[in-house]
Amino acid sequence: MSNETLREQLLFQPKHGYDLLTAEQRTEMEEYCKKYSAFMDAAKTEREAVTYTVEMAEKAGFKPLVAGMELKPGDRVYRNNRGKSIILAVIGSASLNEGVNITAAHIDSPRMDVKPNPLYEDSEIAFFKTHYYGGIKKYQWTTIPLAIHGVVYKKNGEVITITIGEADTDPIFCVSDLLIHLSADQMRKTLAEGITGEQLNLILGTTPLAGDEGSDRMKLAVLSILNEKYGIIEEDFLSAELTIVPAGKCREVGLDRSLLGAYGHDDRVCAFASFLPLLDLTVPTKTAVCVLADKEEIGSVGISGMQSQCFEDFMADICASQNVSLLHCFANSFCLSSDVTNAFDPNFPETCDKRNNSRLNYGVGICKYTGSRGKGGASDASAEAMGYVRSLFAENGVVWQSATLGKVDQGGGGTVAAYMANRNIVTVDAGVPVLCMHAPMELVSKYDCYMTMKAMAAVYKGR
Ligand code: MN
Ligand code: MN
Repeated sequence: MSNETLREQLLFQPKHGYDLLTAEQRTEMEEYCKKYSAFMDAAKTEREAVTYTVEMAEKAGFKPLVAGMELKPGDRVYRNNRGKSIILAVIGSASLNEGVNITAAHIDSPRMDVKPNPLYEDSEIAFFKTHYYGGIKKYQWTTIPLAIHGVVYKKNGEVITITIGEADTDPIFCVSDLLIHLSADQMRKTLAEGITGEQLNLILGTTPLAGDEGSDRMKLAVLSILNEKYGIIEEDFLSAELTIVPAGKCREVGLDRSLLGAYGHDDRVCAFASFLPLLDLTVPTKTAVCVLADKEEIGSVGISGMQSQCFEDFMADICASQNVSLLHCFANSFCLSSDVTNAFDPNFPETCDKRNNSRLNYGVGICKYTGSRGKGGASDASAEAMGYVRSLFAENGVVWQSATLGKVDQGGGGTVAAYMANRNIVTVDAGVPVLCMHAPMELVSKYDCYMTMKAMAAVYKGR
């Protein structure tokens, strides 16, 4: 055997996605990315992502799952968990005793939340106090265009939905940073200390209420604008969820337009890739389940996080339709937990093990484990589970690569995988490689987005 043949047969040599992409796939990829971009423009918070998916699912024939509902193969059901997370399923032809095929992603992203008592005036400028949500580099959130998204519950029960900063005619908002000329002290601080959490105050207004000579004239002016437009008073902030996110749309990046730049690819890029192929299923063999969870960025906690029993409640209702034990169903199920991973960045090569890191344009990343400091917090998939995914992807033409989150002891991160595995469900981590994860603008490659969607379709198909 020639050395060339040996090389071919023995070495693992992943290929660049564009060396494998057919013309037909390229068209499909561009079409998929247009749909994804539209989703990103409409869904910047978990609430907006749920609203968007419910609307699309309803159009595709999905119905709210009701306890005691009779279900037959091909039936499409979903449960909207209090507007913040959602679980959808297409009933398969096989018994639920054989388990289900699950995809799980999250739809919350790092951001700044408005505090319960947020509005104040200092030096004749009105501000919102904020408390950041999830892991952010605080300095990145100053001097960029910001928008307010959220809801306000009024005392009378009325719910007001607020979005300001996205339409071309809307004003935007901003957190200030210090001018370089006076930054002698600030520039000596670390990146972590240069901007503090309590400095992330959002500028709302600088003009006084007309004809007013009392105190807090700017604060009052801001309140009167909000009151005029939304009918809210200061006390209403106590029962509000207002979030501050980067303003603007998902855009193509690079002269070749091969990347997409947007706020919150983590993890809506996997959420959309999981959700869309579910709509195309008619009657899968095993029941296909898609979970879009909230609160991953703060530990998958709370009523809408992946640790919530809301998932058990949904699955138990489905299992009850076939008199199947929920625990048996879980024990035979498979879950692809999909969350973004770090794409190798040649600007920071020292943070990664190049041999094991995912790269842009090499397809969906499969992570045997995530976690930090000796795999802490990881689900750490077995060889068998990895083998299943490898065979499944090979059968379905899914281009994938292995991924690890940075070099050993550099840091790390978790996903919802561990919480699925805790339920006695075989779980593997996968996700789209991202540059500048958790920054106000994150970058992903169109090719990897497309391959992740293909991976999810393969999971629903099973083997
Ligand atoms: Mn994530
Ligand atoms: Mn994240």
